[in-house]
Amino acid sequence: MRYVSTRGEAPSVGFIDAILSGLAPDGGLYVPEAWPSFTRAEIAAFAGRPYAEVAAEILAKFVGDEIARDDLEQMCAEAYASFTHAAVVPVRQISPGGFVAELFHGPSLAFKDVAMQLLARLSDHVLGAQRRNQTILCATSGDTGGAAVEAFRGRPNTKIVVMFPNGRISAVQRRFMTTATEDNVRCVAVDGDFDDCQAILKTALSDASLKQAVGLSAVNSINFARIVAQCVYYFTAAVALGAPHREVAFAVPSGNFGDGFAGYVAKRMGLPIARIIIATNSNDILARAFDEGRYVRGVTAPTQSPAMDIQSASNFERLYFECVRRDGLETARAFAAFAETGVLDIPPQALSTMRETFTGVAISEVETTRTIVATLRETGELIDPHTAVGVAGMHHARSVTSAPIVVLSTAHAAKFPETVEAATGETPVMPRSAAHLADKSERFDELPADAGAIKTYVRAFAEG
Ligand SMILES: *Cc1c(COP(=O)(O)O)cnc(C)c1O
Repeated sequence: MRYVSTRGEAPSVGFIDAILSGLAPDGGLYVPEAWPSFTRAEIAAFAGRPYAEVAAEILAKFVGDEIARDDLEQMCAEAYASFTHAAVVPVRQISPGGFVAELFHGPSLAFKDVAMQLLARLSDHVLGAQRRNQTILCATSGDTGGAAVEAFRGRPNTKIVVMFPNGRISAVQRRFMTTATEDNVRCVAVDGDFDDCQAILKTALSDASLKQAVGLSAVNSINFARIVAQCVYYFTAAVALGAPHREVAFAVPSGNFGDGFAGYVAKRMGLPIARIIIATNSNDILARAFDEGRYVRGVTAPTQSPAMDIQSASNFERLYFECVRRDGLETARAFAAFAETGVLDIPPQALSTMRETFTGVAISEVETTRTIVATLRETGELIDPHTAVGVAGMHHARSVTSAPIVVLSTAHAAKFPETVEAATGETPVMPRSAAHLADKSERFDELPADAGAIKTYVRAFAEG
């Protein structure tokens, strides 16, 4: 399987290069040259099989012959053995026709674990085979850093440095990073906000000499391996509810559109998905795009669902590319213009193609709180604020589909205890697997929001 850039001007690469290199050299994102697919019989045969086996089947279609099948199966088995639920991603009913897929049973209690556990094993395996090392630099607003540390700690061919904005993430989120004791992990509290961290990451990644010297790489949500890993639960959840013999819809709390695009990929591979509801918080660039046909950057506002406080959804470029019939030059033009002006008018034909699959809905802060309260009243269960945005999206979507709707539940309520307690008066119980974090000592360095200082730090750690 070869991978091409959404901007049409980079040479095609294999799976390994696509996942190790992040952005394509022309600034685009990698997508497979053609979408692999499953027959209805093959999809039906996923029913009742272990999650890790379904993951290996799906991954194999994208990897081609670059990684041996036995190795893939073993990496999937190990990745999902780190989850505390035998189903890995269990599906639970919350209303007549409404379900949640619980994506939070991994080590850092958020859905980023599902992809990161696999990506860490894939990339470390490939580097080992090539006798290379990498240094990952990661900027996190909360959940990605914890998932990345959990996934990469102790890996022999990788060092990882995670930057987080000092004082601006929750104590629970910080502890998932700072309590790691392995030598290959460093955490840096940056004296600035998340945008500062991201700007530093960009500066570091564009420094060719640093990149060369330490094998610098990133694990952000544009990595195609993360998309593939996230397709898997669309298949397992839909099959559990009767697919491919009946259609299933999904409601997806969205920020960078990684999960949303993974659903699109599952559909292209043959899974009968009736509709994908893209639910945003008040940072509603995606909801407006599907609703109004204009993708327009707004000002990012802090909300109760901080992992979705994003006003430029990087994976949207992949969908755009598909919906302009894979015209790379048009995609390059559109996203260069968007970078400059913050506005992208979606061509009418592309918009109608998007609307065949997607419906966008923006959920207010008040409605998010009300949904947490109502879900507790109706089911006895606490949900986290990101999941609440998805559940509210499901309620809105009743008018657009009669299929069963699966909400992707992206975090455990105990990861956002302050918000959940403020809404309901109840404190979510930390799962036993993570309870020990509260007693462990923390280790992190504090640095100014200065790219030069961070680069010096990364170089010293990688070479030390
Ligand atoms: C990252 C994240 C999201 C948003 O996912 P995208 O793939 O970026 O759209 C939603 N909820 C939680 C808890 C997250 O950590």
